[in-house]
Amino acid sequence: MTGETMLKTTIAGSLPKPSWLAEPEKLWAPWRFEGDELQAAKEDAALLWLKEQEDAGIDIVSEGEQFRTHFVHGFLEHIDGIDWDLKTPMGIRDNRYTVDVPTVTKAVTRRKSVHGADARFARAHTGNQLKFTLPGPMTICDTIADGHYGRRADMAMAFAGLLNEEARDLEAAGVDVIQFDEPAFNVFMDDVNEWGIDALHVAIDGLKCKTAVHICYGYGIDANIEWKKTLGAEWRQYESIFPALNASRIDQVSLECADSHVPMELIGLLKDKDVLVGAIDVATNTVEAPEKVMSTLREAMKYVEPERLHACTNCGMAPLPRSVAAAKLRALGAGARKLRNELRG
Ligand code: ZN
Repeated sequence: MTGETMLKTTIAGSLPKPSWLAEPEKLWAPWRFEGDELQAAKEDAALLWLKEQEDAGIDIVSEGEQFRTHFVHGFLEHIDGIDWDLKTPMGIRDNRYTVDVPTVTKAVTRRKSVHGADARFARAHTGNQLKFTLPGPMTICDTIADGHYGRRADMAMAFAGLLNEEARDLEAAGVDVIQFDEPAFNVFMDDVNEWGIDALHVAIDGLKCKTAVHICYGYGIDANIEWKKTLGAEWRQYESIFPALNASRIDQVSLECADSHVPMELIGLLKDKDVLVGAIDVATNTVEAPEKVMSTLREAMKYVEPERLHACTNCGMAPLPRSVAAAKLRALGAGARKLRNELRG
């Protein structure tokens, strides 16, 4: 375990699946194994990424989401009350794109721990602090149709209760940071203030470990790229939700800052939080030089002192080639280390 007190390093969550586990650089890539062989292969993949992160100097590591195909459906697959055959067309992220999604047809319940065994496996194989990611309640509700609750906020609270059960299992497994991914947070800003943060509070109720929320503008698909063109030169959506997030009981906020249109000054609104500054661009295969990472962190340090600032990736790196993701981890670790050394003189 590292004892860094400033510029700790971590990642937003996902890492690429090795090519022997699933087809690389593809969303929803099917597994190449089944049953016990698949479980063993996922564990092998998690092991290699834990090692890569440790070697790169990442302080707070994750299992890289090697055990799930998708960050939302990986959780929902294990929830009762969802009819996966009853597809409802839904305009995702405020009608950015339409997808036929499964439908909630009765009260949702969790059969058993979804990721507990994965977390215990990762915990057994690293001495570093361990992060585990879960989908946020609002993002779940923007991924699945409601045929039961009637109000989106009510369905979010129901899922938040299940996420809390899961989070308590993860904490018991030895996880140090539980992060909820909420890419829907910069689309439904009014809802964030009305019920989105309340739902997160339900999800973190009773936890003693650190809690985080990752907000982001989305990657990969054309609909996201087109949407971003409509947002103007400066993306100021966070201005309307950061005050409420800063007043919340969530400990950490993760956001994209590398080559981002988000004005860095906005992180100054998070004066009571740890801020996970994305210093690695996940939308390009170009690997940052450590100096590039340092310059992003230096800019962030104008608004957040280094004790509260964590060096992170903009978003998950699952869609990148494995070698690129590994090199970006090393750039992140090296940039943070050099800057720490500079600050210590
Ligand atoms: Zn993201």
